[in-house]
Amino acid sequence: MRPAYASLDAAALRHNLAEARALTGARIMAIVKANGYGHGLVWVAKTLAEADAFGVASLEEGLELRAAGIRQEICLLEGFFDAAEMPVILRERLTPVVHDHYQVEVLKGMRGEQRCDVWIKVDTGMHRLGFEPAEVPAVVADLAALPCIARLGLLSHLACAEEADTTPSRHQIERFAKLAFPGLRRSLANSAGIMRWPATHADWVRPGLMLYGASPLAPDTSMPTRLKPVMTLRSRLISVRHRREGDAIGYGGVYRCPRDMPVGVVGVGYGDGYPREFRTAVSVLVRGQRAPVIGRVSMDMLTVDLRAVAEARVGDEVILWGQGLPVEEVAHAAGTIPYTLLCGLTQRLPRRECLSTTPA
Ligand SMILES: *Cc1c(COP(=O)(O)O)cnc(C)c1O
Repeated sequence: MRPAYASLDAAALRHNLAEARALTGARIMAIVKANGYGHGLVWVAKTLAEADAFGVASLEEGLELRAAGIRQEICLLEGFFDAAEMPVILRERLTPVVHDHYQVEVLKGMRGEQRCDVWIKVDTGMHRLGFEPAEVPAVVADLAALPCIARLGLLSHLACAEEADTTPSRHQIERFAKLAFPGLRRSLANSAGIMRWPATHADWVRPGLMLYGASPLAPDTSMPTRLKPVMTLRSRLISVRHRREGDAIGYGGVYRCPRDMPVGVVGVGYGDGYPREFRTAVSVLVRGQRAPVIGRVSMDMLTVDLRAVAEARVGDEVILWGQGLPVEEVAHAAGTIPYTLLCGLTQRLPRRECLSTTPA
């Protein structure tokens, strides 16, 4: 078997949910869209049996969770895209977000006994999905009158909760607070809101990234976190060779050895979802020590400078992110965010649950 896989730490995932709970008294909708941020949709939901609800991006994801026996509320964060989805949503007891008038019209046309809960999405400043605050009272009245609606809730999304500038979040909190409807449950916070903005917690919070053990906050704005990485991307050294001063390494020959040195080949590449471009130097861990990535990353392999790990041998385990090497750090070096690295792991990379080895 090719020596490349993502090991998954179930205890860390449950620990991070407990960390979220420790920060808030709100109920928790665990966000598991994009295949559980790359960790495996059903594995994450089953591991997080303590979550109060799950949030997904599509009916397909909701159905996969129901088919796997998940009984909690399942929220479709973008609602339905087409009227044909509604009968299935009702049958499977899914909870759509309603963010636009065309969805209200579909709900008005529903006949029959079955009812569903709905979250009304209001745009408090993200300017992506949601009704204008001024439209909300009429939408609430319209939906409350429909026979297919059980409970209503009011939901909004933070655009800048992780940014240094706090003004946009304060405005969003104010606009959300002005929309008070008795009996409607409320939800505003994502991970950054949970960690940094207690005023956003409301009745339900919606953590995604933090559950997977990564922080959305920049290192400088970051509060100390006790989150544990759930995924560790692992491979092995599949070759170790001594190269001569001046040798060009890999495609394009863009790296030239500054002196005679050991160079290792790691069995993972961009075909697995590891980034190909870096803005600043990045390392992997070999025997717990840092080995800088050198030369271009290939589809199935990458090369590392082993001068700092003189004892490195073929077969040694290599960690590309996760335990001991935060995915945030690799993302930063690649000029991206941890979300894209986790979601971007490709299908060919096996995910394997492992025993927890992070210290308690
Ligand atoms: C993805 C998403 C979240 C989770 O965001 P994180 O930053 O990963 O915590 C919460 N709410 C909505 C509506 C989302 O789409």
